Amino acid sequence: MAGTEFEIIQRYFTRKQPGRVDVIAGIGDDAALLRVPAGMDLVACIDTLVAGVHFPQQTSAAAIGHKALAVNLSDLAAMGAEPAWATLSLTLPDNAPSWLEDFAQGFFSLAERHRVQLVGGDTTRGPLVVTVQAHGFVPAGRALRRQGAQPGDRIYVTGTLGDAGLALQLQETAASVLRSRLDFPEPRVDAGLLLPGLASAAIDISDGLLADLGHLLEADDLGAVIEVDAVPRSDAFLASAGPGEAGKPSRFYELPLSAGDDYELCFTVPEQHCAAVEHRLATLPCGCRAIGVVEARPGIRCQRADGEDYLPAGSGYQHFAEDGHG
Ligand code: ADP
Ligand code: MG
Repeated sequence: MAGTEFEIIQRYFTRKQPGRVDVIAGIGDDAALLRVPAGMDLVACIDTLVAGVHFPQQTSAAAIGHKALAVNLSDLAAMGAEPAWATLSLTLPDNAPSWLEDFAQGFFSLAERHRVQLVGGDTTRGPLVVTVQAHGFVPAGRALRRQGAQPGDRIYVTGTLGDAGLALQLQETAASVLRSRLDFPEPRVDAGLLLPGLASAAIDISDGLLADLGHLLEADDLGAVIEVDAVPRSDAFLASAGPGEAGKPSRFYELPLSAGDDYELCFTVPEQHCAAVEHRLATLPCGCRAIGVVEARPGIRCQRADGEDYLPAGSGYQHFAEDGHG
């Protein structure tokens, strides 16, 4: 180890942070002492990243630090919550100071941008495992849920889909824009904050659009039609993935539908709020795009621009069984 557990905490994780008035005591006591602002609900989530399972072994320390926090902020975003606090459980083999330095840099630069304060954690020795817990606030009773969509609601996604999946496929040959979508996903916190009161349901896309939209729809026994050509794809994706071929599964169709790791938001909006949502999200770099409509009939049906059905070949296939639960 680069030092004792105490030295590691002191050197890398006890730094000047955005002092939040809702943190009464952060790192350094037996536990963090925190105050939820009046009128707010507390939203809590946790995610563990295991080397070789959740990220390739050769992933940079900065990317691991960023991603461990980003995946949690993405969950908060999907609830419409404003991030506030994080705790970090770090299991390290015997890492070099440079690794810890880079990890902390990746973690804290994202934390600072979202005014998230690291308020505690745990540090142990073992195979590399990073667990981050994040907490945020949402005005009482206003959190976005997976539940709540209605037939006729429009389905939207933020940003672009398929970039991270393509980076994983292309490995070293992936364009740097695609690579950074995989290593440094940008949690859509700002988008999530604009949605309470307008969106009827929301989820973040960590396992692929069809799988995660499937969870949202299953919460109410609903289905959907997705316009597969309307799913937003980045210029970098289009340049590397090649065009879609009629009647054939291809990267062009499969990755945006079924690949994970993009951490965009997918949400449903009743017709009367669609204009407001589009107007609000147009002010953000990620924007949003309508890609389909919720239906009463369970299951997700994919349709191409020429009106033909598209039958996805990807891993989310079981979600398209006729009964919607297959
Ligand atoms: P205890 O033995 O009481 O659990 P520790 O020695 O584990 O205390 O931790 C001391 C302090 O350092 C605590 O406030 C704890 O939350 C914090 N801490 C430990 N590891 C980390 C970490 N990786 N990141 C942030 N804070 C940490
Ligand atoms: Mg401890």
